Formats: sequence, structure tokens, C-alpha cells
Amino acid sequence: MKGPTQDAHIGRPKGAACTINPPTESGSTILFPDYASFRDQTQPLHYGRGGAGTHRAFEESLMALEGATSVTLAGCGMGAISLDILRLTSSGGHILCPDSAYDPTRSFCDGFLTRMGVETTYYDPLIGGDIKSLIKPNTQLIFCESPGSLTFEIQDIPAIVAAAGDLPVLVDNTYGAGVHFRPLDLGAVVSIQAITKYVGGHSDILMGAVMTADRGIGAKVQKTAKQLGLSVSAQDVALAHRGLRTLHRRLAVHEKSGLALARYLETRPEVTQVLHPGLEAHPQHALWARDGMGTNGLFSIVTSWTDDQQTEAFINALTLFGLGYSWGGYESLCTPAWPAKVRTAVPWTEQGQLFRFHVGLEDIDDLTADLEQAFDKAR
Ligand SMILES: *Cc1c(COP(=O)(O)O)cnc(C)c1O
Repeated sequence: MKGPTQDAHIGRPKGAACTINPPTESGSTILFPDYASFRDQTQPLHYGRGGAGTHRAFEESLMALEGATSVTLAGCGMGAISLDILRLTSSGGHILCPDSAYDPTRSFCDGFLTRMGVETTYYDPLIGGDIKSLIKPNTQLIFCESPGSLTFEIQDIPAIVAAAGDLPVLVDNTYGAGVHFRPLDLGAVVSIQAITKYVGGHSDILMGAVMTADRGIGAKVQKTAKQLGLSVSAQDVALAHRGLRTLHRRLAVHEKSGLALARYLETRPEVTQVLHPGLEAHPQHALWARDGMGTNGLFSIVTSWTDDQQTEAFINALTLFGLGYSWGGYESLCTPAWPAKVRTAVPWTEQGQLFRFHVGLEDIDDLTADLEQAFDKAR
């Protein structure tokens, strides 16, 4: 079954006299039919903390999306990232994390993990198979994120998986969304998504998911989620599942519009770099294409100006691009960012101002005109 068909058909109630969508089953208590089933815990659903039918249906759709054997839901993407790193590390351990990782992931490593006695080494996201030289006897996992947050470096996941040997490779796959990238097919053991972004798709929920290709890791992550008391409401799961129904179709539009706007920005004299893996000029374009990926509405530019007043004029002039965190919804966003402030392994040396765009589902001519007038005001 192809992606859009899966989106529409997997995770639905079976039979004739039922609604198309799984019912929204919220609640704490789940009844057992009799004493024996209670004593022996023979039924799959025990208690509302782990969700019920609504959750299981959504998890079935996510497993099909990523080719996973297990899914654990968390209250947001960051919850999913910290959950599986916590499960796979222990005091005295060490992890590898790309220098281009999502900033809150770094914050978790530098804060929580350090306090727990787990050391993090940040590595050049372009390191590929040379990551082997950074593996220590106490290394417990290799974390990846491709493309890198804000700066869009593409990682060679198959080379990293090969160098990792028995070490689990975890990939933050929020960008690929299981549509344009399936890390589990390439040998990673864990794929994580902020469901908040493209699966949710409407900027109305926060949720995260840990998807695993089992080596026993799925059950361990599920158990830890229970111990930590991570729980997701059935209402949010129903919204996320509604988003997933149109995921492939929406992404096709985000991809087309994103590329069109990136190509337009390449022609602007104020723009010195367009950081978009789908453009031939992107330094890892061939690697991206090799692993069979598409793109979406997310990319960055670097401007020739460094003046903060020009940045302010540009941002404030935009009318269709909102200024705010997150992405993956139906609406366009433009946020300035300063990667030089956080990098430790490879300094970010671009002098100009970086802006990250999320291209939503609006008409591309309207978006282009909005940028055009904002560039005029920034001049
Ligand atoms: C947004 C994001 C997250 C975190 O998701 P939340 O649901 O906001 O916690 C993690 N990774 C990446 C790459 C993201 O863009």
C-alpha cells in the first residue's frame, strides 16, 4: 500500500456498523470482565494511563508510517527524545549527539544528562563513518538528526549505522516525518518524531512518538514511559490521527511550495545562502537524494545583511509569515536564529542573518509577494 492509501486506511475500526474513525475513548478505569482476567491480567488494556483503543489505532498508523514494530507516545516531541535517551543511558555513560541537534535536545544533554552522570560529545554532523573514532568503551548510544535543525546538514545515516556496530542509533525524524525519510529502514533502531509538527499538521496539539525496530528496545521504552507517568489524552490522539490522514498529501504541497520559494530566494540579491537539501547547490544534495528522501516546507536562508535593524524591519513587514516557534502546520512562519551561539564542535561562521522559513499551504504567489515587499522595507 502506498503512503496516502495507508494514511487513509490504517488504524480504522473494522466492520460495517461503526464510524469511520476510531471512537475517542478517554478515561482512567478500564473494567475487567471477571476475577480471573483481573488476577492474571490477561486483557491487553489495564488502566487509562497507557491509553486505550484510540491510542492503539493511532499507534498502528504510526508503525505503518515508519516501518516500526513498536510505538510509545509522549506528551510532546521533547518528551519522546528525553524518554528514549533516558532509557538507553545510565550513570557513568556517554552519548554522541550532532552539533546541529535541536537546541532543547542539547539543553537536555547539558543539563539533565550531565546531572545524571552521563557525558555528551557533540560531533560534526557531516562526520559519517568517522564517528567510529568518537566511540568510547562507555558510549551507550548515537543520536542523529537529519537534516540538522536550522542549518540543514544532511547526515550519512547508513555510514553511522555501519560504524555503530551494536550501539543503538537514534534519529530525530521530525523533518522526514516517516514520509520523506524512514531511518528504521536504514538500520537505525529508534526513530523519534515530534508529532506536533507534520503529523499533527494543524498547530493545535503537542505530542511525541518513539518508534522502534525491535531489539527489545520498544518494550523497555514503553515500560519507562509508564514509570515516568507519561500519558497522552485520547482527545489529542484523535486530533493527531486526523492530521495523519492527510499527511502525505499535505507534505506534497509543502514540498512543492517550499522548493518554489527556496528557488525564488536563491535569486534575491539580499540572500547569500539558501539552506535547502532539495536544491542542487546544497552541499549534501547527492547524499539526500541517495537515501531517497524528499523535502518539505522547512528551510533556512542567510542574508547579506548583518544589521539587526534590517532584520527587525524585514520580520515586522511580513504579513503572511508568523513569528513563532514550531512548524509543520498549515501556516507559514519565519523566525530569525543565531546558530553561532550554540555550536561547540564546528563553529558556525556565516556572517549574515539566518532566517528559518516554514512554508505553509497558502498560495505561493501571495507568499512570494509578501517576501518581496518585506525585502523592500528591509533595504
Ligand atoms: C519541534 C521539534 C522537537 C520537539 O517537539 P515538541 O513537540 O515541540 O516538544 C524535536 N525535534 C525537532 C527536530 C523539532 O523540530
